[in-house]
Amino acid sequence: MATIEAPLSLDRDLHPVTNPATGETIAQIAYANAADVDRAAIAAHKAFLSWREVPVVDRVQPLYRFKALLEKHSAELARTLSTENGKTLDDAKAEVMRAIQMVEVCCGMPSLMMGDSLENVSRGIDCHTIRQPIGVCAGITPFNFPAMVPMWMYPFAIACGNTFILKPSEKVPLTPVRAAELLSDAGLPEGVLTLVHGGKNVVDALLKHPLVRAISFVGSTPVAKYIYATAAAEGKRVQALGGAKNHLVVMPDANIEKSVDAIMSSAFGAAGERCLAGSVLVAVGEVGEPILEALLARCAKLRVGDPADAATGMGPLVTREHRDRVAGYVDRGVAEGARLVCDGREQMHGSGFFLGPTVFDAVKPTMSIAREEIFGPVLSVIRVDSLTAAIDLVNSVPFGNTTTIYTSDGKSAREFATRIEVGMVGVNMAVAAPMAFFPFSGWKQSFFGDIHAHGKDAVSFYTEQKVVMSRWF
Ligand code: NAD
Repeated sequence: MATIEAPLSLDRDLHPVTNPATGETIAQIAYANAADVDRAAIAAHKAFLSWREVPVVDRVQPLYRFKALLEKHSAELARTLSTENGKTLDDAKAEVMRAIQMVEVCCGMPSLMMGDSLENVSRGIDCHTIRQPIGVCAGITPFNFPAMVPMWMYPFAIACGNTFILKPSEKVPLTPVRAAELLSDAGLPEGVLTLVHGGKNVVDALLKHPLVRAISFVGSTPVAKYIYATAAAEGKRVQALGGAKNHLVVMPDANIEKSVDAIMSSAFGAAGERCLAGSVLVAVGEVGEPILEALLARCAKLRVGDPADAATGMGPLVTREHRDRVAGYVDRGVAEGARLVCDGREQMHGSGFFLGPTVFDAVKPTMSIAREEIFGPVLSVIRVDSLTAAIDLVNSVPFGNTTTIYTSDGKSAREFATRIEVGMVGVNMAVAAPMAFFPFSGWKQSFFGDIHAHGKDAVSFYTEQKVVMSRWF
């Protein structure tokens, strides 16, 4: 069993890291305290004063080497990720690839950080803008993407000339620690990236620390709201990405086979523990019966088990508490009167935190399974009679992370994309996850702030803009 110590912690309490497929403890992690956070912030601030002076073309050199090291160690990283999170090895490999793509985009920072200029804005006066780093930035990340979500943050922040303190999810610290080791091996100077482990106490110390200038958060909506309000009250720049309730709208003209492929991946990939996972299937008109029949046939074949086994389609949920919380939603759905047509509770066996694919039919929009984020392999089917009714239903939900329409009609797809109040829209997609060079742009209760994660938004978030006007005599 490995012991991971927070870089600045001595004699701290150790907390177990668990393999969700077996329930075994695989590592111990030392939590930081407020004094550790203070030391980390002071060290990061000191490092910032020299790092910001390094030309951007030199700042990206460790990132080029980091990318190469991530590629070289991608199989090892995927194994670690799968072991601590429970997602299948294929899902873990795909996540590591997404993480690498973030670093790849950040290597282009010399172009991305460029300002604008215009000569002669008035007679003899020129004007240009420059982007400058802000200082010490901090990131707080969730359990479901321990390789990718931290990379939405620190490669961008660092390439812009900031220093960064990452507080990864205490449930899955091993992958972020290994990635940080690789970045250190790539030659990133000391103090530019620091990891601190822990829960709310450590987060609060970061939110209150005067040297921390910007906070990036990804996690559940209640915590995102708290982070947004607290960091803003402290005068910090903040982006807080929250939870989701994502709808998959199937039109009568959809290709059933291809749509079901995509829906299976959306609802049950990574055991439904994706913020872009489909959670409600909205069947329009007569498509209800054929889509449900095809879906149930596929659920019956989905193999739940060891995430390291190539034949496994779905691994365990991250913790016993979370699995039991999700199973509790299945109980609630039954109690609320929905028709349980595939019961994943039958697969809650052994010492791992398993739950099979679960499907409810005849769900009403007012039921808790239709409105609340479940974050597990539970799909609720709601039947409506028109595209307009489907759009109204999606827009009535307080979340706005992603939604997908399945159709062969361009007009329906266009109307959907235009009228839907959701930030990331898919047309016939499994998971409409924007690539690293586009923003990850949830709306409503799925996002608090105005500048989104990755893409050009990240460059805006991690820099101050300055306008310089000059006249020479
Ligand atoms: P979480 O909100 O429980 O935890 C996220 C982070 O916040 C962790 O690092 C945790 O230590 C910290 N934290 C937890 N409670 C806190 C508190 N009271 N005060 C301060 N910090 C606290 O989320 P999770 O369970 O790790 O991740 C799943 C959630 O993340 C889901 O709701 C999912 O939708 C969301 N998520 C959203 C996105 C997105 O892009 N919008 C991406 C991934 C995950």
